[in-house]
Amino acid sequence: MHDFIYDKEGRLCCADVELEKVAAEVGTPFYCYSLGTLKRHIQAFEEPLEGIEHQTCFAMKANSNLAILAFMAKKGLGADVVSGGELYRALKAGIPASKIVYSGVGKTTAEIDMAIGEGIMMFNIESEQELEVIDERAGALGKKAPISIRVNPDVDPQTHPYISTGMKDNKFGIDIEASTRQYLRARQMKNIEIVGIDCHIGSQLTDISPFIDAVDRLRALISTLRAAGMNFRYLDLGGGLGITYSTEHPPHPREYGAAIIEAVKGLDLKLIFEPGRVIVGNAGILVTRVLYRKETPNKTFIIVDAGMSELIRPALYHAFHDIKPLSLKHGPTEKADVVGPICESSDFLAKDRDLPVLSRGDLIAVMSAGAYGFTMASNYNSRPKPPEVLVDGSRYSVVIRRQSYEDLVSGESIPEARG
Ligand SMILES: *Cc1c(COP(=O)(O)O)cnc(C)c1O
Repeated sequence: MHDFIYDKEGRLCCADVELEKVAAEVGTPFYCYSLGTLKRHIQAFEEPLEGIEHQTCFAMKANSNLAILAFMAKKGLGADVVSGGELYRALKAGIPASKIVYSGVGKTTAEIDMAIGEGIMMFNIESEQELEVIDERAGALGKKAPISIRVNPDVDPQTHPYISTGMKDNKFGIDIEASTRQYLRARQMKNIEIVGIDCHIGSQLTDISPFIDAVDRLRALISTLRAAGMNFRYLDLGGGLGITYSTEHPPHPREYGAAIIEAVKGLDLKLIFEPGRVIVGNAGILVTRVLYRKETPNKTFIIVDAGMSELIRPALYHAFHDIKPLSLKHGPTEKADVVGPICESSDFLAKDRDLPVLSRGDLIAVMSAGAYGFTMASNYNSRPKPPEVLVDGSRYSVVIRRQSYEDLVSGESIPEARG
């Protein structure tokens, strides 16, 4: 359930805020999030896990604005970060370092030093060399670095290939067969403390069984490691639970939680979860205005003022996002492509979609844009990034203002000509 619904007059609202009014005030395009939906999604994820020792670390790459992170912090969530920039944001928003896990295949020395210095919960190690570098850096800093190895369990999450991460051919994690040897090596390292075991198999999963297969494979590894005398506290199961964009029926967090609890019975480890999309995906939308209608012999194009620079998912993964007019229309529909202003043919938001007949000036909402929307926005075509608006009941605040043209060139300089 989300908070983007039509009122009695057929105007699309976010909670008690009429979106057309926000558009009049902040201009278009803009992202809009509902705090109420966020709160419900966090509750829905946490409730089934209440009886079990765990820490949820929100995957910040899905949505990293400070206001949303501060809300996560208030709700007791930690963060899964994948860069120094994300670590900086998480700390700035008030998430304690002790609730931060650090994933990603390409951690730089500076990022590693920063994370060791801050005292994060653990690094999720993605390669043998990374493990060596972290040992060396911890030694140089006179600290012990807490680590998990991200194990690639080779299960097929049956999602889009670009967001599947736990199969043999993916760049992520360490192959499950090789991971025992890596754990044994890590144990020999003076500045490494083994605190857990980790996996994350992919994103937008709509079936529980790959999660359970992954746990079963990890269970075998955990037994091996324990038999070798290794002791650790955490089992990090990553994120990846899917959401409904159109007709998918992903498991409810209740089913997911129950199935995981059943699967980890007897392991006696504190569970770490790294959900991203399932928390924020349906808590946000992108509002954009129709600039032009363009009819060609083959197609009708609805050209809007947002495109792949604001929301790249359709261009990148052929992702589906529902489109709703801000003002409910009951008239005829037509098949059209909704496209942005960017000079690329992949710049579309919807293809061959049955939509109400839209005209210049109409406002539309691109639904389910709360995850991997703004965080993937770019300045391509020198387009200022849109603002983000956070709605709380009948009030709203602009939590990131629209970029200006000055913002676009800030930090640039033109070297003096040498003749
Ligand atoms: C992207 C990612 C997540 C979050 O994935 P969702 O599908 O948004 O839940 C969690 N952990 C890691 C390591 C990731 O890369």
